[in-house]
Amino acid sequence: MNNTNWNLDDIVKLDDFETLYKITEKQILDYANIFEKLNPNMTEQEFVDYTKFHEEVVENLHKLGSRPALMEAADQKDSLALKLKNQVKDLEIKFSEAVQPISLWLKGKEVQGKEVLDDDNAKRLFASTPDLEYVYNYSRMMGKYSLDEKSENIMTAKDANGVRVITDLRDMIETEFEYDFKPEGGERKIIKNNAEISSYAYSTNPAERKAAFEARFEQYEKNIDKFFVAYQAVVRDWNYEAKARGFESSIAVRNVANHVDDNSISTLIEVCSNNIGIFQDYFKFKAKEMGLQKLTRFDLYAPLGEVNEEYDYEKAIKLVDESFRGFSNAFADNAQKIIQENHIDSHPTDTKRGGAFCMTVTPVITPYVLLNYTGKMRDVSTLAHELGHGVHSLYANKNSISTQHATLPLAETASTLGEMILFEKILSETKDANTKKQLLSDKLADSYATVCRQNFIVKFEIAAHEAIQKGIEESELSQMWLDNIKEQFGDSVEVDGMFRYEWAYIPHIIHTPFYCYAYNFGELLSMALFAKYKQEGESFVPKIEAILAAGGSQDPKQVLANVGIDMGSADFWQGSFELIKAWQKELETL
Ligand SMILES: [Zn+2]
Repeated sequence: MNNTNWNLDDIVKLDDFETLYKITEKQILDYANIFEKLNPNMTEQEFVDYTKFHEEVVENLHKLGSRPALMEAADQKDSLALKLKNQVKDLEIKFSEAVQPISLWLKGKEVQGKEVLDDDNAKRLFASTPDLEYVYNYSRMMGKYSLDEKSENIMTAKDANGVRVITDLRDMIETEFEYDFKPEGGERKIIKNNAEISSYAYSTNPAERKAAFEARFEQYEKNIDKFFVAYQAVVRDWNYEAKARGFESSIAVRNVANHVDDNSISTLIEVCSNNIGIFQDYFKFKAKEMGLQKLTRFDLYAPLGEVNEEYDYEKAIKLVDESFRGFSNAFADNAQKIIQENHIDSHPTDTKRGGAFCMTVTPVITPYVLLNYTGKMRDVSTLAHELGHGVHSLYANKNSISTQHATLPLAETASTLGEMILFEKILSETKDANTKKQLLSDKLADSYATVCRQNFIVKFEIAAHEAIQKGIEESELSQMWLDNIKEQFGDSVEVDGMFRYEWAYIPHIIHTPFYCYAYNFGELLSMALFAKYKQEGESFVPKIEAILAAGGSQDPKQVLANVGIDMGSADFWQGSFELIKAWQKELETL
């Protein structure tokens, strides 16, 4: 099997695009009539009819939106794609205007000329559509945190003219940075872009790695007072709004939006912190491998070597299929469905967008996968990851379009699982000790970056939000960061004092506070499930399948509880670290 281009006609044929557009346009006009009929005392059947109509319109819009979006992803110069995309955008605006009053009404808000939907009737009506009940209740619960219309407008304006301007200014300062790169014994040069300076962290030359960090932190140090003013403003604004909306803590704003409870997140952070020793052991091992007494923070991402094996596409597909089949035939069959129906766009071209993704259009349409396959080991992992997303969607295709997608905490379950199954298969089949060492070392370095580092960023944010509200100086905040990373590395890594300025460099803490735990949460959750599968064997497979099939139709905590897992329990999270620990142990024996 060579390069494949996906067949997008399964979404809607280009010849039928206009007709579908017209139908949907007319349906959107019908919302006005439907809105008339909505009232708290309507029958369950009337409500079910409304949801069916609404879901159908959403499906049509998804088809209309995804056809040009996927055309464009595969060929960014496709002018027809751009034309259709703009056309659909108009329709989407009309749609959100038409739906707006209905969704406000469903949330229990005052809407002109309407009797408010009270809690009892909301409960009665939502229960009539079991698949959508959670989604409706959730959005009604979210409504609890919204303010009256006038205050909401002020909030929007305040964000646009206030805090967003501050973060823009901060980014402008950063973009103007010129990094003075002076590696000892090497050539001095001025580097203007962030990606280039970052790439030196992976250099094989220790002097270059060190020089890259020095050049970076020199800029942040010079501007640290400005970065501090910006961060302080973001934190104050975030907490002002959190209080105004009635959230219980700074992080609760993020947790509620992420469909997770505060307790599960604090357990997660605690368990991550308790397991820091695994990564410290890895860094000690790495120092030995590099012939160093001790690793410095500059050497953290230094390469130990490279896995050079190439995988042609056909071989990769076969490998992924075999590993999936070792887990479950249904899992592998779902992936095959995507392959057989020609829903993968496999190889890069000059006009194709980069990266990889999986897109689900509607429950009845098999998902689409975009890759930029070049035959590297990493590409095979990506194939398993994206097919995993597609498999997840297919397991959940009995749900409606609004609940097929898993909620954020569970969204990476099948994708990470797919990668994990593949990784373990490749590892078990690799005989060469050096390649094995490479594979494991890369895996541990990746786990450190997605699991541990993110965890400590969030820990810092929690402390920083508290301290800034009480009043704190820049030097104290920078010290807090330095203490945080020293706790993280213990005696395994030497941390230079210049890393005190590192907090100013992390974009997430300023643009999307508390976002970082989403990375370790999703990853660890899937790993913990995989660990349970390894422990319990085949009997655990149907439980994972049940989790996947639930999609986003229930609270993630409930989805896990259905198969006997408590997301708030430290034991559950610990499982994922046992897995990482086993990799680290194996690495040490090589
Ligand atoms: Zn993913």
